[in-house]
Amino acid sequence: MLNYSELLSKQRNYFQTGATKNLAFRIKALQKLNQVIREGEKRLIQSLKEDLNKSEFDAYSTEIGIVLEEIRYTLKNIRSWAKPKKVKTPLTHIGAKSYIYPEPYGVAFIIAPWNYPFQLAVAPLIGAIAAGNCAVIKPSELTPRTSLVLAELINSHFPEEYIAVVEGGKETSEALLKENFDYIFFTGSVQVGKIIMESAAQHLTPVTLELGGKSPCIVHVDANLKLAAKRIAWGKFMNAGQTCIAPDYVYVDKKVKDEFLAHLKRAVNELYGQEPLENLHYTKIVSEQHFNRLRSFLAEGEIFYGGKSSEEKLMIAPTVLTDITWDYSVMEDEIFGPILPVLEYRQLSEAVEEIRSRPKPLAFYLFTESSDVQNRLLEQVSFGGGCINDTVYHIANPYLPFGGVGNSGIGAYHGKGSFNTFSHDKSILKQTTLFDIPLRYPNFKNGLKYI
Ligand code: NAD
Repeated sequence: MLNYSELLSKQRNYFQTGATKNLAFRIKALQKLNQVIREGEKRLIQSLKEDLNKSEFDAYSTEIGIVLEEIRYTLKNIRSWAKPKKVKTPLTHIGAKSYIYPEPYGVAFIIAPWNYPFQLAVAPLIGAIAAGNCAVIKPSELTPRTSLVLAELINSHFPEEYIAVVEGGKETSEALLKENFDYIFFTGSVQVGKIIMESAAQHLTPVTLELGGKSPCIVHVDANLKLAAKRIAWGKFMNAGQTCIAPDYVYVDKKVKDEFLAHLKRAVNELYGQEPLENLHYTKIVSEQHFNRLRSFLAEGEIFYGGKSSEEKLMIAPTVLTDITWDYSVMEDEIFGPILPVLEYRQLSEAVEEIRSRPKPLAFYLFTESSDVQNRLLEQVSFGGGCINDTVYHIANPYLPFGGVGNSGIGAYHGKGSFNTFSHDKSILKQTTLFDIPLRYPNFKNGLKYI
């Protein structure tokens, strides 16, 4: 086993040389990362197929492509992000100039989950490199083939004193967390997020926590129901519902519930066919434990659509549940699987109150044509981020920082957000020596009069 203290001191010493802060070095590292990913593309697609039965289309569009796009965008902007920024200086400081110098924290620790095992390990790494840090990455043990390919690609192309992938499970994370990192970037469950924050507190290490939760989706009476159904089915059932920002449940106005459900049925059918379990491109559930947890939900309420599962393939067909109330266990925690409960409301305010009485979600989706309803709900409901008349798509806009609030997380990343996350803003006042205004000194003649 690798000696983690040794790895950490190697990275710390390397960071202290200043090599990783050099802008040309960072640009070269990002270009290299881009090249390494392109060279490893086939192996990554294969490993994602083996771990999760992800189709080539999904592997490219939701894992590899999104990361390559993030590198491209970062390379385009890194020069301007890395420059010290001149800011205003008040008249009281006459003669001085003020600047913000973004500086890397040092050695970052990135802990990734299994649901997008490549993307969620590498997207934060792009921010860490761009900001000039060294990094240790701990991918998920539940997707061992993708973690292995990631480790081989990174560890054979980057020196370990700069970037190192350490494979392993909970114990590996725990052992690494004993070390004194300068930044911890964690993506995973709320429960483990709390453990991470506790460990980080021992060294006062700043953290980003990208967590989960139950992300609601409201379909208002005036929504374009056909389009809403299609976009909800897409966002919910991609990756078999194992997406942190998948709509967890739908709240629909009672008056349009039946019509919406009919559209939803057609949409799921169009996307996955009559027999999704036979669909070669349908993602499987990551583990037997998760499969059993999810399958137990199928006994709750009424199965409106779907409901089939295969223990052998670890697959659950896209399923829509109706007659569900908040007392069912499917409504307790994040579902994180291809099961969509549809609840109804009579008054929009009822739905809003229910949502507001629960932990702040990572995402929120609202389908309505009314800008009045849009504005009202955006003001009333607190959540990480989301879409009006769409689902999930906000994650792919690099101009929108991505992260949670309250129970769904701390901090945000993507685009400039990633650069900011891995940088400390060092504030500097550059004072003139050409003159010295005496007002601030206590021995200034009659000084107190001016206070
Ligand atoms: P998890 O919390 O079980 O594991 C995440 C990582 O933490 C893994 O690498 C795991 O090895 C490690 N880990 C587990 N127990 C640990 C411990 N006690 N101490 C230290 N490290 C430990 O999460 P998961 O099951 O891999 O992922 C699913 C969760 O992640 C869902 O809740 C989902 O919503 C969330 N998620 C959030 C985002 C986001 O961007 N906000 C993205 C994807 C997933």
